[in-house]
Amino acid sequence: MRPETIGHRSVRIPKLMRLVDSPVGAIEELAALGRDSRFLVVHAGAASPTGYGETLVRAAEQAGLKVGEAIALSNTDAWAQTVRSAMSEQQPQYIVGVGGGRVVDVAKVAAAHAGSDFVSVPTQASSDGICSPVAVMVDDSGRPRSVAARIPVAIIVDMAVISGAPEITWRAGLGDLVSNLSAVKDWRLASKSGEPYDDFACLVSEAAALSVIDTGVSLADPFFREKLVRGLILSGIAMEMAGSSRPASGSEHLISHALDTLLTSPHPHGLQVAVGMIAADLIRGDDVTRLVGYFRSVGLPVHPRDLGIPMETLVAAIRQGPEQRPGRTSILDGVTDEQLDRLVLEYARL
Ligand SMILES: [Zn+2]
Repeated sequence: MRPETIGHRSVRIPKLMRLVDSPVGAIEELAALGRDSRFLVVHAGAASPTGYGETLVRAAEQAGLKVGEAIALSNTDAWAQTVRSAMSEQQPQYIVGVGGGRVVDVAKVAAAHAGSDFVSVPTQASSDGICSPVAVMVDDSGRPRSVAARIPVAIIVDMAVISGAPEITWRAGLGDLVSNLSAVKDWRLASKSGEPYDDFACLVSEAAALSVIDTGVSLADPFFREKLVRGLILSGIAMEMAGSSRPASGSEHLISHALDTLLTSPHPHGLQVAVGMIAADLIRGDDVTRLVGYFRSVGLPVHPRDLGIPMETLVAAIRQGPEQRPGRTSILDGVTDEQLDRLVLEYARL
């Protein structure tokens, strides 16, 4: 008998990743999933700033695809239930989430509950949720929480539409992606106290982040934007490998989650995460010179004041960070008053 070996492992990745430049191009890719399949397109209807969901539904009808639609305006359980009802009525093979983060997330969750295949068609590149097995849902008290879902079977990005999204969404996406470097540091720290650590998930997560760290890049450059979209997709695959958001969510995300509860009007996730990343690196005692230079060159916030956040609020968010997600070991655990005093002094030098 052969001795037992460790063997390989399988990782689920989407069957299809296509960057297209028109609705017709997107429909061709949908058709490639199965001409005879039935699609349920989930979108925000008249509330959508791009109207892209409706555009796709009409284009799919013209192309002779079997397509139905469901409206979802937000990422709440109630809207997920609305999508589930449409799924029971229409019995689609594919749930296609078309829109910003909220619509993609609510469609992703509804599809995951039913074990259905999900196709992601984001109209913004504002976070790595565009192709991840994790979704953000808002509970009854209005608080966002991460929930496990399933990675899409396909991701189709119409660069013509996504390029029209506000510039701030691109900066937010960049912040979310670069923050993987901080998340991985926290995971390495956690591994020292016994948490299982996945080298490949970290390799992929860091490679995704490093792919966009380059001096002299312009967020308006179409090639850089494509690179960012691919990086965000790769980040989602790192999460799938890990089976959790661990490789893309550490102390910097905990700080952002705490800011969500402390601020009356929170800023985009990726921008808060960028501020959290600088703070976390300062607490770690890392040299942030290069990172700060890069952030400034691409318009990412460095100092909390860059987002109009008082230093005391950031300090409060750091203190409250660990309670945002108990069990997610990070550099914020047991942070001392001395460390926080030093942090404030370090910020004065930035
Ligand atoms: Zn994130």
